Amino acid sequence: MPLPVLQNNKIGPISQIKNVIAVAAGKGGVGKSTVAVNLALCLSELGYKVGLLDADLYGPSIRKMLPEVKLPVQQNERLEPALSFGIKVISMAFFRKEGQPAAVRAPIANKILTQFIRTVAWGELDYLIIDFPPGTGDIQLTLAQNAQITAAVMVTTPQEVALMDVRKAAALFQQVGVPIVGVIENMSWYAPGVQTVKTYPFGKGGGARFAEENGIPLLGEIPIDEAVSYRADRGFSIFVEEIAEQLPAAAAFRQATQNLLAALPKLSERPPSKKVEKMYLADPATCCIEWNNGRKHTLKFSQIQKYCPCAQCTEKTPSITNDVGVHKVESIGKYALHFDFTQGCSHGIYEFEMLYQLGEGKKE
Ligand code: ADP
Repeated sequence: MPLPVLQNNKIGPISQIKNVIAVAAGKGGVGKSTVAVNLALCLSELGYKVGLLDADLYGPSIRKMLPEVKLPVQQNERLEPALSFGIKVISMAFFRKEGQPAAVRAPIANKILTQFIRTVAWGELDYLIIDFPPGTGDIQLTLAQNAQITAAVMVTTPQEVALMDVRKAAALFQQVGVPIVGVIENMSWYAPGVQTVKTYPFGKGGGARFAEENGIPLLGEIPIDEAVSYRADRGFSIFVEEIAEQLPAAAAFRQATQNLLAALPKLSERPPSKKVEKMYLADPATCCIEWNNGRKHTLKFSQIQKYCPCAQCTEKTPSITNDVGVHKVESIGKYALHFDFTQGCSHGIYEFEMLYQLGEGKKE
């Protein structure tokens, strides 16, 4: 089925969706899609209305794990999602032949994902799970900014190499002001057959370490279980009555889902990230910034421009004049400002956190 190219990307706001949960890892192969699918199945099992957006355009595997009972249908400008196990599903896999390479350039990928978010007729949903594409580039950043994400769940395996990537992915969400609700450690342990002794093929404690580093809960530790991969490959759920009770992985996913549901309302108790409430000129070379926590800073534009984060300026110290002013200031997403300076470099995007630290006198 070809993906129709729609002219108007703005129709269909996602206001009927109560929670948009990104499931991200930064790295492929850690079981991100497996976690996304099983969280969706558990939420659905609990009676919630659930949707799943497979945003992993380069390796969409969701369709295999959740075979559709109903294909997506184009209805004028709207795309009705597919249906599988009662979950509404949309994936690039519906729009190209099996085995066809996923050669999609970033701007096209961004367009497809925007289309998926804005024009799919999700209807009323309690939870839309987004299986995030691995990596931390433009596609991931644009998606994190545009998908009105309530919170992100990070997925990692216990070893340090996976943690390195998950830290980068977490930084991307923090940059755009998306809170991280918790971490799920996948492939935590293994106890084959009837054995009760656990072994730890990928080491121990990575998820807990990441949780502690970030002050977030460890939502679950999912064991390696042949049934998980065997059933995923065949499009079977692990939450089938006769088998779920005997599967440690099914119990671990159910527990992780309960922990996620408990952690989501607590997000509002966390201190909000820094946000510029108001900004105005004190004089042509100086601005005042009022922050959402009530703090107020007076900063010279020359002070700000000194920290231009663009590639050229970070490589060699830019020359700055004291009387630099601005033509225009724009806000970038929920996390940064762009200054169109009267002289010198105007390429940089200045993150709120950096400007706040500068105002507090905490930057050299
Ligand atoms: P990712 O989305 O991170 O690339 P996948 O979810 O596609 O990773 O998982 C990669 C492979 O590992 C798949 O074959 C999947 O079935 C398998 N897998 C993932 N988690 C588990 C687990 N807990 N136990 C057994 N196999 C797993």
